[in-house]
Amino acid sequence: MSWFSAKNSGGISSFSGGFVDPAREAEYRQDNFPAFLREVRLVAVVGGLFYLLGFGVDCQILHEGPLLWWLLFIRILFAALAMGLASYIRPTMDYRLVDRLAFVVMLACSAATCLIIVLSQVGSLGLIQHSLTVFVFVTVYYIFVPGRLLYSAISAVSFTICFLILGRLYLSHTPSAFTVVTLYMVMVNLLGIMVTQRLQRLRRMQYSILQAERQANAALRHEVEERIKAENEVRETEERFRRLVELSPDAIVVHKDGGILYVNAAAQRLFKIPPDGSFRGMSVFDFVQRDYHDIVKKRMRSLAEGVAFLASVELKLLCSDGETIDAEVVSGTTQYKGQTAIQSIVRDVSIRKMMENELRRLADHDALTGTYNRRRFEELSEAEMERAKRYARPLSVLLIDIDRFKEINDRHGHAAGDLVLHELVKVCQNQLRSQDVLGRLGGDEFGITMAESDRQAALNAAARLRRAVAEMEIPWGRNKIRLTVSVGVAERLAQDLRLEDCLRRADDALYAAKHAGRDRVEAA
Ligand code: GH3
Ligand code: MG
Repeated sequence: MSWFSAKNSGGISSFSGGFVDPAREAEYRQDNFPAFLREVRLVAVVGGLFYLLGFGVDCQILHEGPLLWWLLFIRILFAALAMGLASYIRPTMDYRLVDRLAFVVMLACSAATCLIIVLSQVGSLGLIQHSLTVFVFVTVYYIFVPGRLLYSAISAVSFTICFLILGRLYLSHTPSAFTVVTLYMVMVNLLGIMVTQRLQRLRRMQYSILQAERQANAALRHEVEERIKAENEVRETEERFRRLVELSPDAIVVHKDGGILYVNAAAQRLFKIPPDGSFRGMSVFDFVQRDYHDIVKKRMRSLAEGVAFLASVELKLLCSDGETIDAEVVSGTTQYKGQTAIQSIVRDVSIRKMMENELRRLADHDALTGTYNRRRFEELSEAEMERAKRYARPLSVLLIDIDRFKEINDRHGHAAGDLVLHELVKVCQNQLRSQDVLGRLGGDEFGITMAESDRQAALNAAARLRRAVAEMEIPWGRNKIRLTVSVGVAERLAQDLRLEDCLRRADDALYAAKHAGRDRVEAA
């Protein structure tokens, strides 16, 4: 590669040794400006001092006289200029201005030196001796003045040319000595340019490497900071999540393939697991009632197939002491210690369930006797009626009314009347089949719907019932309460559309039974 080619490598010009990109070059120069200032100052101060010291040589080769004082004056002038430059340049200045000032000082130095050479021609030094001085200055221009190669080259080459012209005109020399000095000067300049160009290139390469390293370090630092930040965030999130899970009033169980990995404090309380980690190695199925195993397995399969979240399901769960609880369970996938697991949130709804059941029972049952109330009796009987109609099966309805119940109330009190109602229901339940529907229709009146019973079967059942009631003795204080009932029986007829059609006929039969003297069964 030719040293003066304009090609560049790594963005650095092979000619000037500077960055090809002016913005990058400016950045480099700006970054290195403090160091550049220090070098220029050093060269200016040292150069100025040496220039002054040169007066010692002048004294050796010249006799005292005006010429000597002229030389001293020139040397002082130049030294002052160099020192002035050293003290004038500031880090706040534009580096290009400092470049130019250094250039001016180099030119001034060359001019002063040329002047000194011309003035000192009367001395004993010839071309060869003076060429050493020029060599020193040219070398300093190239190597020790760190500005632009162009300025150094102009200063050095112009100085060399001036010296050779002046040397040829004024200094003692032989023709061969002049040729040697000329060649020697050309060599020095070429070498100077090459060395400077190389030096500039190396400095910029070093700067590029440094920049790349700095950028890599900054990127690495940024990456490390980001990673630490992310890790902290993850830790914080995990911590928040852990606290949330631990403090949750709902039981939380993390499990994988059925095996329990984690339970929170609420789960330990709910399932009565001792807080010694003994849940480890246990299966979620140890806590699920057998009838619900299939539901749980199906839900676990769905989650394994990629469903992220499953809506709540009501399950019957088992505590470690065997107690059953009603629970509402929602499940979803989660990450636990680096593995995908299932997180189930379990809410104990036993009390709610109990209350729901109780409400349902209260809505359907008569509070005093525990049998169905009128609404539920009619609902269930209507369903039986439908079934009987659809399959053309027999069905009968019985209406039972206590005879002269008011008298029992009047004689023994209302509480005794309540007991009688309660005992009557017990007798009825003993006499009936499980599929018969018994309900309190109001006051002392009860209804019984008997599926698969025709008129005769119903009459038989009613007769049995009447007899059982008549034989019953209900202890009340020192007394024994006895009672009788009248029963009206009606079989479903083909034309009966609704239950009430059947009930109406049973009511007529009951009325007939009452009219006929009570304690009897009448059929419609
Ligand atoms: P009958 O033979 O004609 O049926 O005469 P009865 O006295 O039984 O007359 P009826 O069936 O009309 O009277 C029902 C009575 O039942 C009226 C009411 O005082 C009484 N009764 C209704 N509900 C209750 C109850 O919950 N507890 C008690 N102790 N008595 C009730
Ligand atoms: Mg009555």
